[in-house]
Amino acid sequence: FIQLYQPLNLMGVIYREIKQAFVDIEALFELIGQKPEVKDKPGAKPLIVGAGAIRFDNVTFSYDGVRPILRGVDFEVPPGHMVALVGPSGAGKSTISRLLYRFYDVKTGRITIDGQDVRDVTQESLRAAIGIVPQDTVLFNDTIEYNIRYGRVDATDTEIREAARMAQIDGFIKQLPLGYKSMVGERGLKLSGGEKQRVAIARTILKGPPILILDEATSALDSFTEKEIQSALDSVAKGRTTLVIAHRLSTVIGADTILVLDKGRIVERGTHASLLEARGLYAALWTRQQEAEEARRKLAEMVEEG
Ligand code: ATP
Repeated sequence: FIQLYQPLNLMGVIYREIKQAFVDIEALFELIGQKPEVKDKPGAKPLIVGAGAIRFDNVTFSYDGVRPILRGVDFEVPPGHMVALVGPSGAGKSTISRLLYRFYDVKTGRITIDGQDVRDVTQESLRAAIGIVPQDTVLFNDTIEYNIRYGRVDATDTEIREAARMAQIDGFIKQLPLGYKSMVGERGLKLSGGEKQRVAIARTILKGPPILILDEATSALDSFTEKEIQSALDSVAKGRTTLVIAHRLSTVIGADTILVLDKGRIVERGTHASLLEARGLYAALWTRQQEAEEARRKLAEMVEEG
């Protein structure tokens, strides 16, 4: 019994560790020889990406078939636009991104990219068209260079450096004793959350997908790191259709449209300015976050003053 139980348990641990890291999930399934629950339709065709328009058409979804997670979610991300998803924890923001990537299928309604239902196209072509910068990037136990090149294995060294520069991580890498050949990951150099995220951004810039999902880290970053990440994200999002899952509202001020999600429904939508004016949930979340930031600043000052 124990012998049988151990590997299963280990798999569970690995699965939990990696579950949030979109990029590696395909590799994981390969590793454990399991197929994800979503399958290609017989005769599925590759996705043909034109301008890169995303549409959620009255989407409902439940993980377990009982508890509704998304209800009547309806929105569009026009080509090259940035739409941000905000809302309380558990509202369903990440679920929306998982459905776009087709980790699961919608219950009713549909999701299309340039008019093609994501259920009708091959998963390979769908996932090739979408770049994800996850919340927590899992890095391979290999060099920084390898970790960036993972975005496009045939990239040249020059392209890798260019991607790193755009992701604002080149300066950091260059000052390491072994530079791009530095080992990272569990058995190498430990990178901070912000550094890992910039490696993920460089990887995605290299992949060059027409569609982008940015899953912003929840953890509070210092304001210097936050500015660097923001500028890296801006450069990766430029010219791509982008869906941002935002935890800090300060990073979505510039989004074309902000969707406010609550308990699986879009309860408000608009620009930062129009939503503040509406004095609804978004305005309340904004005020609360401003207050929290102010408190954090005061605390930091007190610590500095001793
Ligand atoms: P946060 O801001 O905390 O990341 P979120 O808005 O992204 O939250 P989701 O991760 O989309 O929220 O989760 C929405 C709901 O779905 C939550 O109640 C969560 O418990 C549930 N949920 C998420 N993933 C699963 C899963 N794999 N199986 C079952 N329920 C899930």
